[in-house]
Order: sequence, then structure tokens, then C-alpha cells
Amino acid sequence: MGRLADQQLTNALSLISSEVGLIGPRVCSVDVFEFERAQIELAKEVGRSSTMAFTFNKPARSADPNSALEDARSILSFAIAYPGPSGESSSEPSPPGGEIAYYAKEDFYGEIRRRLSVVAEVLKARGYRARVAVDENHAIDKAIARRSGLGWMGKNTLILTNITGPFVLLGEIFTDAELVQSEPLKKGCGTCDKCQVSCPTGALDEDYLLDARLCLSWLLQKQGPFPHELRGYLGLRFYGCDECLTSCPVGKKTRLRRESTALTVDPIFWLLRSDLELIEHFSYMYIPKRDPSHLRRNLLLVLGNSGCQTDEAREALTTHLGHFSNVVRSTAVWAASELGFSDLFALVEADRDELVRQELARIGIAPFASD
Ligand code: SF4
Ligand code: SF4
Repeated sequence: MGRLADQQLTNALSLISSEVGLIGPRVCSVDVFEFERAQIELAKEVGRSSTMAFTFNKPARSADPNSALEDARSILSFAIAYPGPSGESSSEPSPPGGEIAYYAKEDFYGEIRRRLSVVAEVLKARGYRARVAVDENHAIDKAIARRSGLGWMGKNTLILTNITGPFVLLGEIFTDAELVQSEPLKKGCGTCDKCQVSCPTGALDEDYLLDARLCLSWLLQKQGPFPHELRGYLGLRFYGCDECLTSCPVGKKTRLRRESTALTVDPIFWLLRSDLELIEHFSYMYIPKRDPSHLRRNLLLVLGNSGCQTDEAREALTTHLGHFSNVVRSTAVWAASELGFSDLFALVEADRDELVRQELARIGIAPFASD
């Protein structure tokens, strides 16, 4: 295929992308992402990636675009802008309840997937193969965005664009069409360190590197007990953390703003709902193994930090002190302790689980006599 045909197709793809509300496409080569592969492997080696799977699972596969589409010739990089806080302040008043990060207030991942499918159809209609990838283990989306010049990497380890700052979600199309490649942007953060200063836990202390072991956003997705030493920093966060986005000055005047009242989650209401209702309502979020117990853990963390001492809070804790999951029970013990419901500890008197016993010991309750 000649260069002219490539340019025409690239133009056609730009037109349809703009019509469906996508940022991009920018186009890059399918060369293996060697630098990023080495970075991922180093992060795993030193433990900075925590237990994150995703692209950390098989770095060699994720770094090789051919694993996403055999004989791919081009990668198209896209973004969808989503609204951030409405005002200048990062502390938008919200109704009381568990907080959801801006990127997850609606199903923006579903939205970008739908829009990319429209663009992919243009390629398929011309006889090319096209594979859409959104938030997939097969693609290092930030590396693709950076190589193609869709945006640049900030010290918050997120892709920034001039107009939106970090308030974008990324998506790609791998194709065997030869398209006209674009250039990386020559931009960086300079001396700015606002995201590093705003991060409550120090997870961004090293420039351009994330220590996932300290990142509240990741830890809310990670299975198992939430680290005790970070529960105080969590506040009312239920899903995600926005500090390193809302503090970023890039695109602050031009990005989309969420005008409606901030969406929050009532922890007591949802703790008293069935597993099915929980999974259905939060289905668009990343929930490890689709396990409703994980949502219950996060709801208990919110409740424990809420200061709520109502009868409904007591009822929710009572129910969860008898839950089958030891992570849920031990988090319920912690929440009951934070809220001063110490009389409820009698409900776990006979609990022989090590995690629950450790939690009780932590708050000064002597281990109950074991057999
Ligand atoms: S998401 Fe929150 S905890 Fe994680 S790096 Fe950003 S500011 Fe820090
Ligand atoms: S807050 Fe400053 S340092 Fe952090 S990503 Fe934005 S521009 Fe870069």
C-alpha cells in the first residue's frame, strides 16, 4: 500500500474518531516496548508494583504488540476525556458517603470501548484486521500513548494532554494497516511537584514512579486485608483516589467539569444489600474475581472512618461480624472498634480465624481461650 493511501485512511480514521468524541488517533510503530518492559521488570523486582497483575503479570507479552494482534503494523492510540471537579478547589463538597474517583463515577471504560469499536469498523470495512484494547493486560497503554504523542507521562505516572490534563482514559486499536505515524511530544513536568506533594501516602515520592504498596487507589482494588497503617489516610474513599489528578495544573482551565452533585456510596445501605445487588450495581468497576466480599470490605472501611454510630451502623456491623469471609469479619472488627461498638466483640468470641484474632489483639482484646 502506498503512502498516499495510508494518509487517506489515517485522515478517514481521524474524522470518524472526532465525530464519535475520541481524542486521537495518534499512531505509533509496533516495535517492542523494551524500555517499559525493563521498567516493569524492575518494579516487580524491587516490590514497587505490589501484587498488581495486569501488565505486570507477563511483561514480555504486554510489551510486544504482536501478542495483541499477530502481524500488526500500526497501533492507534486514543483517549476519552472524563469530567473532573467543577471548581478550582480539589475538595468539592460531596454528600456524606463513600467516595468514588472521577474516572469511575460512570462507566467511561464501556464508553471508550463502544466508540473505538466504531473506528475499528472503518478499518474492517476496508479489509484490515483491527483489535480494540481497553485496560487490557496485552497492551501497555501509557507507553503507546507516549510513543504516539497522544500525551506525555506526568510525575503522577498518568498520561497528560494539554486540554484534559490527567482526566483521560486510554484505548488502542491494533491493526495490520500501514498508517502514518505521529511523533512523541517533547513535554514534561519541569519543576512542578504538586501531585507528589498532594499524595497522602508518599506513593509518588520518586519522580515518574509509583509505589503501588502505598497507593490508596490500588490498595482499594487489591484483595485481602487493607494495610492498617494506611487506613487513617483512606478517609471515606470507597473506589479510587483523585488527589494526584485534581492537584495537577495541566489542563485545569480547559478540562471537562462535572457539574452535578458528586456521586457517593452510602456504606450502610449497601452493606445491608444482597451480594447479587452489590455485584449488579457496581458491575462496571474492577472487582477482583467479581467477589462481592471485596466490595463489603471497602464499604466497612468507609463505615469505620465515617464516625457513624447509628442503630443501622450497628446492624450492618453485626451482620458482617458473622460473614463467611475472614477479611470481611476482621474489617468489621476494626470498624466496630473505630466506631466504639465494643460490645459487638462478643459476637466473634468463638472465632478461631487467625486474621480475626490478630485484629482483636491489635485493638487490645486478649485472645479468647483456644482449645
Ligand atoms: S491515587 Fe492517591 S494514593 Fe495513589 S498515587 Fe495518586 S494521590 Fe497517591
Ligand atoms: S501535578 Fe505537576 S508534576 Fe504532577 S503530573 Fe501534573 S504537571 Fe506533572
